[in-house]
Amino acid sequence: MVLIHHAVEFYNNKSKGAKFKLVEIISARSFFSMGVWEHINFTASEDDKSLKLFFAELSHGEAHWGTNHNTEAEKITACCLLEEGSTKDYCGFCPHEDKVYHPLQGFTAGIRW
Ligand SMILES: [Zn+2]
Repeated sequence: MVLIHHAVEFYNNKSKGAKFKLVEIISARSFFSMGVWEHINFTASEDDKSLKLFFAELSHGEAHWGTNHNTEAEKITACCLLEEGSTKDYCGFCPHEDKVYHPLQGFTAGIRW
């Protein structure tokens, strides 16, 4: 899953000095809402010892409209470190059973539930 590496880079770029590397994808859920979206939990490490849990939101294809429309397009719409005590294990699209942890804010699809 190449795109997850891009999500880690996206996080590193917006967090000055961060040097996280992808370790493992833990869980993922994809769903359709004006395009295909994925909510993913993965672990990453800066020092190869301590693992941090991340959430990433990706959108694919039809989620992009207008002159830049490109069916191959994949976009990272969120990537953040999950803080203990400020997560929820569902959104409007991911059921509890999937155990995909989300931040309380900062992503796009399914956040209003
Ligand atoms: Zn979700």
